[in-house]
Amino acid sequence: MNWYKKSQQLEITDMTDNPNSKKEYTDIAHDLYYRTQTALIDNPNYLWVYTNGIIDANPETMDQPSHRFYPQWNNINYEETYVGRYSPSTKTITIVRPMGVFQFREIPSHLKMLLQQKFPEAQKLSIHASAQRWYKKAQYNNPPEWNFPEAEHDYNPNWDYDIDPIPDEKLVQIAEKAMNEINNKIISQIGMGKAKAAYIKNDNEDRLAIYAFGTAPYPVFMINLENIKKVAEQCAKDLYCNSEQEIIIGISTSLYHELGHAIQDWMNINMDENEAEEFARHYNDFGEIWKFWE
Ligand SMILES: [Zn+2]
Repeated sequence: MNWYKKSQQLEITDMTDNPNSKKEYTDIAHDLYYRTQTALIDNPNYLWVYTNGIIDANPETMDQPSHRFYPQWNNINYEETYVGRYSPSTKTITIVRPMGVFQFREIPSHLKMLLQQKFPEAQKLSIHASAQRWYKKAQYNNPPEWNFPEAEHDYNPNWDYDIDPIPDEKLVQIAEKAMNEINNKIISQIGMGKAKAAYIKNDNEDRLAIYAFGTAPYPVFMINLENIKKVAEQCAKDLYCNSEQEIIIGISTSLYHELGHAIQDWMNINMDENEAEEFARHYNDFGEIWKFWE
């Protein structure tokens, strides 16, 4: 069968800029098992993830109603990965756009083709903005300005995150020191462009910093100074750490860690948490660049 030809026949709706994008997404192929006593559903919904060049799909079950419940997808970074669902009853595939610079790009045609191969009965394809973007859009109308004229991309952290308009001055000083270290000492040694950090708030509590995938070689980092402060204070309480010291280490190593991810992205190698962390620790402790990519 000519899959490419068949994929051309999919009826495509792009909901990205539709105010109902998020609602429509959660209406399609969600909660099939909601309040269902028995799992006697013949034609389950599917959840899929586009990872390592293939579509990995799993049927929705009562215990696994969303992507995060599947242990094999634990390491998926949802901000930079295309994910979605398939509903056999409506013959509709949904795609949630990743975040970062890729969120406004055309959905890759090979992705559409692979989805069509995976779900050959599908007739419709519905494209959605990331949930985070809609959550963010609903809250703020006038985000603070963002300037990064050196960058070759126009990524703006305002698209995805709540920017903190008045971050704590003392914490900002620590972050700026680390960013100066990155921009004046590190990037020149690895041939990368300038990096810039945005201060965010109201984010997921466990999240300290994020690299905006696709922005390298002019990487954009988001850092949640308040979250780092909270972790440092918790450490002081539970483990008798020096909280001032922990805040400095936390902010600096978070930024170096995200730089590690930016390098991985730029060098086109796998996103590796251990490598990024080791790179960060090594620079923080010894002032030396661990060239994990060589
Ligand atoms: Zn990481």
